[in-house]
Amino acid sequence: MLHWFRSRVRHPLYPSVRATPALSSYGHPTAVSGTFHDLAQAAMRRVEPRRAVFVLQNVGEILLTDAQRDELWEEFQVPVYLLLLDAAGKVCAYECEAHQGLHLTHDATAPHRIPPATEVSLCGCGRPGPRLHYPHPPHPGLAVAG
Ligand SMILES: [Zn+2]
Repeated sequence: MLHWFRSRVRHPLYPSVRATPALSSYGHPTAVSGTFHDLAQAAMRRVEPRRAVFVLQNVGEILLTDAQRDELWEEFQVPVYLLLLDAAGKVCAYECEAHQGLHLTHDATAPHRIPPATEVSLCGCGRPGPRLHYPHPPHPGLAVAG
């Protein structure tokens, strides 16, 4: 987990959005990233990201629940994107603006690594490629962070 504090995670679709680790963020950063717990702490310190919140989770963890997502939305009022990290701390799956599952990154789509429960239909964002099943309706009026 220490690598989260050393390197800034970037969303593959929004590489220009630099997310500040939630635990070291203050004021009005462009975006914040961290575990749900880290982000909740940032909210208590009145951190106000301007564009996005990136929730970092490790492969194998129980994914962010609707209630947790709603809590983050109520605290920050910016789009919330889930980023799934592999054992090396690299993003291996991510949410897009359509929130219809987690797009697998190129590295994660090697045939022997594709998990069994993947969606192969075209995503609502128009991007092809397999996705992990994790649908979540976006909050109304919010589409793209970038
Ligand atoms: Zn998509």
